[in-house]
Amino acid sequence: MEKIPYYAITVRRYNILFRHTEWFHQTQALYNEVLLFYYQLYLETFTDEQPGTQEALRILEKLTIVGRDKQPVPNPLPWKKVPLYFRRAAINIATAAAKSYLARDKQEQPTGAFTESVTFYKGMYRDFQGNTISLKLWDGEGWQWSRLRLRGNTVPEEGQMMSPALVLKKDHAELHIPWKIPVADGRGARERIIAENKICSTIFTGQGACAVCCILDSFGKRESSFYIEGGREYANASRQIYDRIKRSEDVQGGGGNAKASYCYWKKLKNLHEHYAHQISRRIIDYCKKQNASVLVLPEYNKDYGNIILASVGKNSPLRLVPSIREKLKYKAWQEGIVVLEVQQHNINSVCSQCGAKIRRKGADFQCVNGHRGSRYLNMAQNLGQKCLDSFKENQKNK
Ligand SMILES: [Zn+2]
Repeated sequence: MEKIPYYAITVRRYNILFRHTEWFHQTQALYNEVLLFYYQLYLETFTDEQPGTQEALRILEKLTIVGRDKQPVPNPLPWKKVPLYFRRAAINIATAAAKSYLARDKQEQPTGAFTESVTFYKGMYRDFQGNTISLKLWDGEGWQWSRLRLRGNTVPEEGQMMSPALVLKKDHAELHIPWKIPVADGRGARERIIAENKICSTIFTGQGACAVCCILDSFGKRESSFYIEGGREYANASRQIYDRIKRSEDVQGGGGNAKASYCYWKKLKNLHEHYAHQISRRIIDYCKKQNASVLVLPEYNKDYGNIILASVGKNSPLRLVPSIREKLKYKAWQEGIVVLEVQQHNINSVCSQCGAKIRRKGADFQCVNGHRGSRYLNMAQNLGQKCLDSFKENQKNK
């Protein structure tokens, strides 16, 4: 079989330790001036027809940079000593910004100033060692190769490093490095199911076990199941924060203290992110451990989802579901797992063993033929079975 390379891009963020942080600001200021210069030149130059990005770069450089023939150019770049790849990074951002401006409503004024983070193309960075990197920085007078220490993240085990970006935050600086990571298995879901791979179907609940996973072989036989706990802890932590928000508002006479409530909302957001990350990670790890190459989720309908969310209360782990789903998609892709969505119609009303109607009793079910067990696992298994059936149907029709 021919091997097709599949890639996923993931960005890792590192905190930067470096003495001359003022050089970061100098470099970014220069970058944005060069960017603005090319943005304005683009808008002046390409009034009717717009070239492609590569062609735009070529034309803009021809207008501004003296070539080998040493002939004067119509719009010389007003700065000396701007390195080639620094300039090209700025031109590409300028081109994208100008194209997007021209595509919008012309009533708007073009941008008068940029505050973009600097992207370091090749030639502007070197010697990346995992926790150190050298960047070429502008100190206001000249370019300095500067060694930066990086903290707070690891390097992917394999993959290709792409152009890093220097991101200046209010009180610290970060380096964002995109990595192109090979994906082991990029085959489509159909191929996998025909090849008799195992599938993992997962449903979400508002219970302590807030996600329930079930592994089915290609004949629909259940091989294993996994309850992901954490729903109760999430609900408790969320409730505590809401209580504190309420208390803080009461103390303020109902008005609320903007700074305190901002702090609580941030806590809530962090809590939410933390659990969504953790739960999605555990689902993916379980798929990997069980060799399941297809992950089946209930089909998500945004409007319906919002109705459910409105009815479950603000501390329910069901509130995590939209962000869990989002994270699952990219994490699955990075691990070579395909995510499928299947309609959840009926999965909670029939028995996964015999197909008879079930009676629900809290978290349990019982069918007329005497099968009983966890209602949620039953749902997960029905969902997986529906997925397998739909592929088999399609196979027969072919
Ligand atoms: Zn049954």
